[in-house]
Amino acid sequence: MVVNNGERNQYLISDHHEPIIRRHIFDEVQALFSKNNKNNKKKSKGRWKSYPFSGRLVCARCGRNFIRSANGDVVTWRCGSRSKNILLCSMKGIKEEKFKQPLVQAFIERYQIDYSNHSTSQITRLIKELQSAASSREFEQNRFRLDLERALLEENTAILKSSEVSHLTEKRLAVEERMAERESWWEMVDRDYIYRKEALDVLTNLKLVGDPVKQLRQQMENLSFLRAWAVRIEAVSPYLFSITWVSGDKTEIDLTKGVI
Ligand SMILES: [Zn+2]
Repeated sequence: MVVNNGERNQYLISDHHEPIIRRHIFDEVQALFSKNNKNNKKKSKGRWKSYPFSGRLVCARCGRNFIRSANGDVVTWRCGSRSKNILLCSMKGIKEEKFKQPLVQAFIERYQIDYSNHSTSQITRLIKELQSAASSREFEQNRFRLDLERALLEENTAILKSSEVSHLTEKRLAVEERMAERESWWEMVDRDYIYRKEALDVLTNLKLVGDPVKQLRQQMENLSFLRAWAVRIEAVSPYLFSITWVSGDKTEIDLTKGVI
């Protein structure tokens, strides 16, 4: 080790060794910075912390999202409008447990989970369903793009031929409108990528354990896991929910009757 004692090594140190030391310190500081940033982000989010169903549990009466509030162990979701002013919406608060259990029930029925079947085939099927759901979203968007290109081509050809275009313009606008309607759905599915990735990792690991279905049952208690499939829940009332799955289809749950 070269010691800088202020003598003849000074030049050597400052010009050669020091940058190496600096580089080392620089990397450490960078690592510390990114760690602090993560902590700061968590801190600054504070009460706005995001939960699996933040932005995905929607009040059917006013269209606003539900907001999570916790009192000890009891988690309640309240309509965003009603939270501001009870005159804005008549929707009452919903305990998380109240939609969690029916959500699990709906998941079991929708994805035909059979607890008596202990093979890994169910896990394989869940993996495939999750993967195909994401690719069908891509497929749908591509189909719309093709429809739009075709409509634009027809419209432009008609313009060049000086033909009547109004019906073709209407056709193109209709495609654009349908695309705009689907945009928010695609965006939601894309944003759920992280939940799907985590669920796929969990499922892949489950294939390696002794009783995968038993483990799956435990995983289903985890809202983050269910979020990989349940993209959106609409609360029609505190007793009636409509779940939209990543595959695009819906399941209605009436708490007084079960899955309907
Ligand atoms: Zn509401």
